[in-house]
Amino acid sequence: MTDAPITQDVLTLPRKLPEGGKTNLIGLTRPQMQAALLAAGTPEKQVKMRVNQVWQWLYHWGVRDFDAMTNLAKPYRALLAENFVIEIPEMVSRLVSEDGTRKYLVRIAGGHEVEVVYIPEEDRGTLCVSSQVGCTLTCSFCHTGTQKLVRNLTAAEIVGQVMMARDDLGEWPAPGTGTGENGPRLLSNIVLMGMGEPLYNFDNVRDAMKIAMDGEGIALSRRRITLSTSGVVPEIARCAEEIGCQLAISFHATTDEIRDKLVPINKRWNIATLLDALRTYPKVSNSERITFEYVMLKDVNDSDEDARRLIRLIEGIPAKINLIPFNEWPGAPYQRSSNNRIRAFADIIYKAGYASPIRTPRGEDIMAACGQLKSATERARKSRAQIEAEAGL
Ligand code: SAH
Ligand code: SF4
Repeated sequence: MTDAPITQDVLTLPRKLPEGGKTNLIGLTRPQMQAALLAAGTPEKQVKMRVNQVWQWLYHWGVRDFDAMTNLAKPYRALLAENFVIEIPEMVSRLVSEDGTRKYLVRIAGGHEVEVVYIPEEDRGTLCVSSQVGCTLTCSFCHTGTQKLVRNLTAAEIVGQVMMARDDLGEWPAPGTGTGENGPRLLSNIVLMGMGEPLYNFDNVRDAMKIAMDGEGIALSRRRITLSTSGVVPEIARCAEEIGCQLAISFHATTDEIRDKLVPINKRWNIATLLDALRTYPKVSNSERITFEYVMLKDVNDSDEDARRLIRLIEGIPAKINLIPFNEWPGAPYQRSSNNRIRAFADIIYKAGYASPIRTPRGEDIMAACGQLKSATERARKSRAQIEAEAGL
């Protein structure tokens, strides 16, 4: 880890209290919004048009105030304000790494916190979005896995992370100044690789991604959204059918014996079962490769033999192998493979005809790299516990 300077920017805005009984418009799918507007008294003949108008204000222009919805008559704006709120998670802090990576801590209802990471690159800007507070799975190399699950995020909280990042990046077009779609986007890609197992929160993840993909709003193509799963086999086909995004699999081992230890969900759905689900993944084609994520752990899963076994296992699946140098966290029971080992491993895979990029760790100085996410409150709790243990309390 580097000793790079860290800038911390703690926002002191008071948390907005949810207004009693009102429905949050954020996170509703189009049919849900239609039903909600009807129930609030929108005439049936107008409702489709109203959904379109409100949708564009929320997701194209990023407007959070009914009064700014200037193409709606004042009484209709008042009706909306009486029945609805527009709420996204609140940013409580932002850390900016020396490499430009931004790690946000966002607070959601109930006082829980999740982390969201923005990673700027030359040709894209990727937002790593969380789907759960913590994770029920306990992958032994993952920091998030040591946190007890508190709850699933709602669709509003998931798409709200994207909206919060666009707020911070200043990426909403200003009303009246054109669409803002010229030139590269700051936030061009979403990866569901933050905290949590997205396929264990399927419906909310699906609804949030549908909203992010909608052409009259945030309008990110399904090709620019990647969902990463540890291997929840029964949900993989649904992911292809109902979301249609790119798929990444946290593979990490080439024998069941080792994968059982690293990714314990393997005891439920083992390597053969997982690969079968991937082979029949309806969207698989040359243009839509499945990404196999493979964390490089010294002397655990990083031998030449592992690389060759991996090639044999994935034969016939259009694939790309993303090698992730292990990111350390306090108390982690593993070490990162050496650069030479990672390169040798990558080379064997590359020579077999697969792209084998080595993921550059980003934002390590702010604990924003893969597998390091864990909310600040949780960390504070942990260190207090450690201090107490050390003091023999
Ligand atoms: N739960 C999902 C998505 C979140 S994890 C999943 O497991 O796929 C995103 C990626 O980071 C996964 O491939 C995960 O295995 C990897 N990861 C977790 N901890 C890591 C660590 N300490 N170093 C490097 N990668 C890690
Ligand atoms: Fe959960 Fe993914 Fe971490 Fe495993 S790697 S504990 S599934 S977040």
